Amino acid sequence: MHEISLVRNIFRTLEQEFDPGELARLEGIDLKVGKLSNVEPLLMQSAFEAVVEDDGRYRHVSLNITVLPVKIKCEECGDICEVHNYVFKCSNGHPTRNLIQGTELLIERVHFADP
Ligand SMILES: [Zn+2]
Repeated sequence: MHEISLVRNIFRTLEQEFDPGELARLEGIDLKVGKLSNVEPLLMQSAFEAVVEDDGRYRHVSLNITVLPVKIKCEECGDICEVHNYVFKCSNGHPTRNLIQGTELLIERVHFADP
């Protein structure tokens, strides 16, 4: 399950940015996941639970996942629109593969308890 290593990577990133004292107050992580990112939110959630269960330091941390729709920007007319059912066409019907959203896996925000 590649979600397990994704979750481990998220904690590794946070461990590089915050010191252990701060991380002890970590309460929540907001994640943004694009629809084309190959991350399945339900699997991500259960991978997260498995990892925090395994690593006692983060047992009180919760994960909040927001799924981002796929968006394209037409190179011909500049139209920006959402992609549904993998139809990569702008609203004027021009085919385009110019993705501007939908493949990301981002830590959007982290929440800390008051010291
Ligand atoms: Zn267009």
